[in-house]
Amino acid sequence: MRIKLPQDMTRWELRRFLDKVDPPNMDGCKLWTGAEISGGYGQFKLRGRSVLAHRVAWTHENGPIPDDRDLDHNFARGCRSKLCVNTAHLELVTPAENQRRRVVARRWRASIQVWTELDEG
Ligand SMILES: [Zn+2]
Repeated sequence: MRIKLPQDMTRWELRRFLDKVDPPNMDGCKLWTGAEISGGYGQFKLRGRSVLAHRVAWTHENGPIPDDRDLDHNFARGCRSKLCVNTAHLELVTPAENQRRRVVARRWRASIQVWTELDEG
């Protein structure tokens, strides 16, 4: 069961959230600077519960996330970090599509690793 996130964050809650968000980096990612959970996602405490920061940002701007959709950090839109809370980098996808993209992103990271090693060698 997923936690239903409030769409009606108060101004105070929103400020507390935005305080932990960096300005866009060169990828356009707005990185979360607060707590992290395992898996590398940002974590935000909201109304006594721990919630995922990127889901909070999405819900605040676009409304509820359907139960049968994942919120993907969209690689094709330039997103390079799971700590990113830039809603322009996020997209609702089916879990199957999310899994497919995860494989593509992993390959990309592996290729960067190879190039780095070649550079150093
Ligand atoms: Zn991003």
